[in-house]
Amino acid sequence: MKHNFNAGPSILPRSVFEEASRAIMDYNNTGLSILEIGHRTPLFEAVLYEAVELVKELMELDADKEVLFLHGGASTQFYQVPMNLLNEGETAAYLDCGVWGSKAIKEAKQFGQVEVVASSKDKNYTYIPEFTVPSHAKYFHYTTNNTIEGTQTHAIPETDVPLVADMSSDVLSTRLDFNRFSLIYAGAQKNVGAAGVNMVIVDPDILGTVTRKLPTMIDYRNHIENGSMLNTPPVFAIYVCMLTLRWLKQQGGVDGIEKINNQKADLLYSTLDSLPVFYPTVEKKDRSKMNVVFVMEDSGLEKDFLDMCKKEGMVGVKGHRSVGGFRASLYNALPLESVKALTDLMKHFAQVKG
Ligand SMILES: *Cc1c(COP(=O)(O)O)cnc(C)c1O
Repeated sequence: MKHNFNAGPSILPRSVFEEASRAIMDYNNTGLSILEIGHRTPLFEAVLYEAVELVKELMELDADKEVLFLHGGASTQFYQVPMNLLNEGETAAYLDCGVWGSKAIKEAKQFGQVEVVASSKDKNYTYIPEFTVPSHAKYFHYTTNNTIEGTQTHAIPETDVPLVADMSSDVLSTRLDFNRFSLIYAGAQKNVGAAGVNMVIVDPDILGTVTRKLPTMIDYRNHIENGSMLNTPPVFAIYVCMLTLRWLKQQGGVDGIEKINNQKADLLYSTLDSLPVFYPTVEKKDRSKMNVVFVMEDSGLEKDFLDMCKKEGMVGVKGHRSVGGFRASLYNALPLESVKALTDLMKHFAQVKG
């Protein structure tokens, strides 16, 4: 078995892989594969219903929030959000804290005015800057966890402006008042399930204020009206999300998994802080508990460490091409034992090479 630190698509619970593979051969003793059942059948409707209910329960959502499972990755939301929320002459506020956030800004600029409230680009996005949200903004968009750079916002901004968040890489990993957000989106392939589907949680009150014509598939209201079944949904990807959400509930929900996530992050960061060979790249107060980015004092040794990781069955430790060094992603499904194995290897490496 590998220790899978991939950034996304990434590790999912073993039990989910097992059940999903059984369902490919024979879904719930129907004699049919999950891949060949109609989406408008009670068989799939039950899957979608359970997935939506689990999201509401695990996130403790207010009754007025709508939960959608939509096609495409988070990148689709980069334009679907402004198309639905922002008129040409209006201003949306954005925080520029990483590669993903800056892509969201680029898309939004096609549909209205964008005010960047702060940017940490000056230091390669290694910190979360101070900012205030202008009250005239139609909405404020930020990325809760910067997957590539390894920073995370640990508090929700104080503002009356509707909040929109890209939570692709930390949704359901830590307790948050999810009801504070008017719109949350998350590509499923990090903490929630298989690639190919987005989870979108939206307060319908913020919709219907734009004057532009919206293609049918872009207008959130059509998806709400049709319960995520406007067209054929990504059936298998939603099924895997449902299984993963079930698993999360068995772990004690968000609070249960947060305890383990804290142990994993504490172990890895304290090891990094104690070994002079390695050092984390981001400011301490903004460290991500999901994606831990670090480099080496002597970058000439990086290849040796990667070779050692490979030999020990550790996958996905190489850093993103834009940052270099290393990144270990500690998503919900990654067991504490994998972090122990990685930190033991780091200590060993520091002893022989340090
Ligand atoms: C992975 C990721 C994305 C991109 O997701 P796609 O599904 O590839 O479009 C966007 N935002 C964040 C924060 C991510 O981690």
